[in-house]
This record gives sequence, structure tokens and C-alpha cells, in this order.
Amino acid sequence: MMIDDAGGLVFRPPSEARSFILRVTIGCSHNMCTFCAMYKDSVYRVRSLEEIDGIIERGAAAMPFIRRIFLADGDALVLPTDSLLHILKKCYDTFPNITRIGAYATPADLNRKSPEDLKRLHEAGLGILYLGIESGDDTVLKHVKKGTTAALTIQAGKKALDAGMKLSTMILLGLGGQERTVEHALHTAEVVSAINPTMLSALSLIIPKNVPLYQDVQQGTFTPLTARGFLKELDMILRHTTMIKPCIFRSNHVSNLLPIGGTLPMDKEAMLSSLEAYIPREDDTTPLLNDNGNF
Ligand code: SF4
Repeated sequence: MMIDDAGGLVFRPPSEARSFILRVTIGCSHNMCTFCAMYKDSVYRVRSLEEIDGIIERGAAAMPFIRRIFLADGDALVLPTDSLLHILKKCYDTFPNITRIGAYATPADLNRKSPEDLKRLHEAGLGILYLGIESGDDTVLKHVKKGTTAALTIQAGKKALDAGMKLSTMILLGLGGQERTVEHALHTAEVVSAINPTMLSALSLIIPKNVPLYQDVQQGTFTPLTARGFLKELDMILRHTTMIKPCIFRSNHVSNLLPIGGTLPMDKEAMLSSLEAYIPREDDTTPLLNDNGNF
């Protein structure tokens, strides 16, 4: 739900489907990841506080029943802390029924903020952050121009949790291609275990024709996983996680071959068992192609 005339595509996590989407930036401040098509057509800008206040006032007048707000676009946490505090206060003062506000964040956004700033944001009602980990393998992160490292991602995730926020993280199956599937799986398991987020979602890589990674496929420097490869990689990641605190795990995105879910570490063996039954035979080399010919 939103009131907006800025144009361009708008994205939000599936769990924010009933939230009011408040675009505090247009686009993503990084916008370099070679696998991501989300904001490639947007010209990045930070909205003025006056513009944002106006949207909040119009949104609250039209939809006073709203209980959750999601700050978009790609990494709302990039805004200065004072601006975010202003926006959070305005939202809670204006919408009468708000219980939670969330936002996307990059590792760089989190690491730029001090622990005190993150605590202030949490106390002001920023309850959940969505962090795209994508991979825990430094070679993969560098190849896809994610703009971070495994160590910086761990630092960022821990900072969000230490500030009291819920942390929902995403990893991307297949991001290492066939070339680095083992390293991608093992290092990703290490990073998510070190962070021990509140929630972890595993999505499967889809490579549309308008992203740079598609050129890597065409040039033969990146080989997409087979159907079996995706399931094996998910199996490897789950098998090597060592969560201590409960982490809700989901691999039920539309991109995934097999919907599985549970709470780590308790449901790990049950999820591995259900996954094992669906891993196809060793000689299955079928690539995943959708109707548009995308990988
Ligand atoms: S930081 Fe996120 S939204 Fe921005 S380009 Fe990378 S994957 Fe896309």
C-alpha cells in the first residue's frame, strides 16, 4: 500500500505486503550489484523531509488503519540518523495505529552508524531491518560487486541485533555459479551462523538479461547452477549452519524449486531430510531457464 508519484518499480520484502510503503529514497545508493535489476532504471535521490512529511500526512489521512510501515527504496538506512529519527517520529505521531517500522539496510549503512545511533533508532521505533547477505564468500562478493566482505557483513548484522532490532537476512543460492558453489555454500553458512539473525531466507538466483551477470554467462565466465545444484547448495548451507539462538528459516520464495522452512537449529535435521528426498540424480545437468530465456 502506498501513496506515491515518483514512478519506477517499488520493492518490499514479502512480509511487508500489508505495510504502508514509504519511499524515503528513490532507488538504491549502491546500485552496483551485477545480479540485481531492481533499481537499474531509477535515478538515485534522497527525498527531502518536507516531501516525506507530506506523504506521511496524506497516507495517514487515507489509511489510518495501517499498522506497519516499510521504509523504501533499496537501503533506507543510508539516511543520516537525524533524518531517520525525524521520519520515525512523524510516522508514529501521524498514523494512529502503528506498531512497527522496518527498512532495507546494506552492511555499509549499518557499519557507518554508531551502536548508539542504532539504539536511538530502535528506541524511536525502527523494529526490523532486512539485510541482503547474498553470500559469505569474499570472492563471490567481489565478483558481483556487492561492496562488502564477509567480515563487514558479520559486523553489520551483529550491530543491528545488539541494538535490539529484529534482523531478517537474505542469501542467494547459485550466486557463486558452478565455479564456486562449494565455497559460496560453506562461507555463507559461516557468516549466517556468526550473525545468528532472527530470520534467514534463501532465494534462488535468477539472471535477467538486463544485468551484467548475464554477460558473464554469455562469455562463459559464470555457469549457472543446475536444478540439482540449487538443491545441493541449499543442503550444504543448512548442513553447515551452527546457529545457537532460534532463527526462522524460509526457502519458500517464488524463485525456489522446493519450499522448505523451519526454525534453526531445532528443525535442521527435519529440513535436511525433506530436502534430500528431492535432490535429483547425479547425472541431471538441466539448467534452470524461465519462459523468457533468462537463466
Ligand atoms: S544493494 Fe541491494 S538493492 Fe542495491 S544493487 Fe545491491 S542487491 Fe540491488
